[in-house]
Amino acid sequence: MKKQNLKFNTKVIHAGQVPDPSTGAIMTPIFQTSTYVQESPGKHKGFAYARGKNPTRQALEQCIAALENARYGLCFSSGMGAIDAVVKLLRPGDEVITGNDLYGGTYRMFTKVFANYGIKFHFIDLNNASNILPHINANTKLIWIETPTNPTMQIVDIATCAQIAHEHNLILAVDNTFASPYLQNPIDLGAHIVMHSVTKYLGGHSDVVMGALCMNDEKLYEQLAFIHNSCGATPGPMDSFLVLRGIKTLHLRMQRHCENGEKIANYLRNHPAIEKIYWPGFNDHPNHAIAQKQMRGFGGMISIVLKNADLEKTFRIASSFEVFSLAESLGGVESLVNHPATMTHASIPKEEREKAGVVDNMLRLSIGVEDADDLIYDLEQALNQ
Ligand SMILES: *Cc1c(COP(=O)(O)O)cnc(C)c1O
Repeated sequence: MKKQNLKFNTKVIHAGQVPDPSTGAIMTPIFQTSTYVQESPGKHKGFAYARGKNPTRQALEQCIAALENARYGLCFSSGMGAIDAVVKLLRPGDEVITGNDLYGGTYRMFTKVFANYGIKFHFIDLNNASNILPHINANTKLIWIETPTNPTMQIVDIATCAQIAHEHNLILAVDNTFASPYLQNPIDLGAHIVMHSVTKYLGGHSDVVMGALCMNDEKLYEQLAFIHNSCGATPGPMDSFLVLRGIKTLHLRMQRHCENGEKIANYLRNHPAIEKIYWPGFNDHPNHAIAQKQMRGFGGMISIVLKNADLEKTFRIASSFEVFSLAESLGGVESLVNHPATMTHASIPKEEREKAGVVDNMLRLSIGVEDADDLIYDLEQALNQ
C-alpha cells in the first residue's frame, strides 16, 4: 500500500520515513552534516549543501506534508521564518487581506517589517468570510487567515475564503497552528498554503522552535523552495529529528488535549470568577457550526476573562498556579497559562488589542495532557486567589 493512502494515525508514525538504507536503523538518523561529498562536480546523491537539503529534514517535510494531505512540505527554523517566506512571494504595492485577531508576532511582522517594503495589509473582522469581498482590488494578492484565532478562538470559514480566493485569483494561506493537522486540513478545504508553528502541537514537547509550509501546487512549491534556500531560514537536523519523534504521538496527544479541553471548558463555563470564556466547542460560540464542519474536534486552547479583576488581581491569579506554568507558547504536553496583553500579544497596540477582545483581565490556557482532575483542582485554587 502506498504511504499516502494510509490513515492519519499511521502516517504520524511512518510518513516520510523508511529504515536507514545503510544500517537499517528504524529511526531516521540525525544527519549532522553541512555538506556532502560529490563524486565529480555536480554528481551527488541529491544532497549538495545542507541549507538546501538534509535527509533528516526531508523526512520531516514529507511527514508533515502527508499529515496535511499536501504534495509538498518545507520546514523553517521558526514559524515566523515560514510566514516571512510566504510574504516574500509579494512585491511592493501588493495588498494582503487578513484577520484582526492574529498571533502577535504575525501582526508585528506585517506592520513593522513588510509594511516598510510597500506591502499593504488590511486587518478585518473575518467572523463572516464575505467581509473580505469589499477589500479586494487589483493589487490584492494574498488572504492570510488563522483559525481558530489566537487568543479569542474565532473560527474563520476556510472553504468560503478559498472560494473567494479562487474566484479572484488570490493565494489563500492558513495558519493551522492552533488546530494541528489532527483537527483540520485547510488544503482539503481549498487553501493554497498551510502554515504551522511546528513549535506548538507538532513538536509537542516544548523543546524545539520550528515552522512549516505545505502546498499542492508545484509552481508555488518551487517559488517557496527558492525563497527557503535563498533566504536561509532552514532548521537543523537535530531539531528535525526531535519533531519527527514528537509527531509519532500527535494523535494520542491531540485526543487527550481535546478531552481535557472539553472537561475544563465545561468546568470553567459557569465559574463565578469568570466573566467570559472562549472555546469553539460551545454550542453558543458564534461560529460553532463552522467549527463543527471544518474541524474534527475543538482542541485544548481556552481563553478566559476574569470577573472584576484589575491587572494586579489578574497577575496574582496568573502567578499562583501549581500545575500550570506561566509561560508563552502552547501545544506542549504540559499545561500553560499566558497573559496575552503583556506576553504573547504585547506587540499589538492596546487600542487594537482591546478591539479584538484581548483585554487586560484575559488569560489564555493551553491545556496539556496531564490528569484533568489535577488541572481543575489547580484552576480552582488559582481562581480563588
Ligand atoms: C507561535 C505561533 C506563531 C509563530 O511561530 P514561532 O515558531 O514561534 O516562530 C505563528 N502563529 C501562531 C498561531 C502561533 O501560535
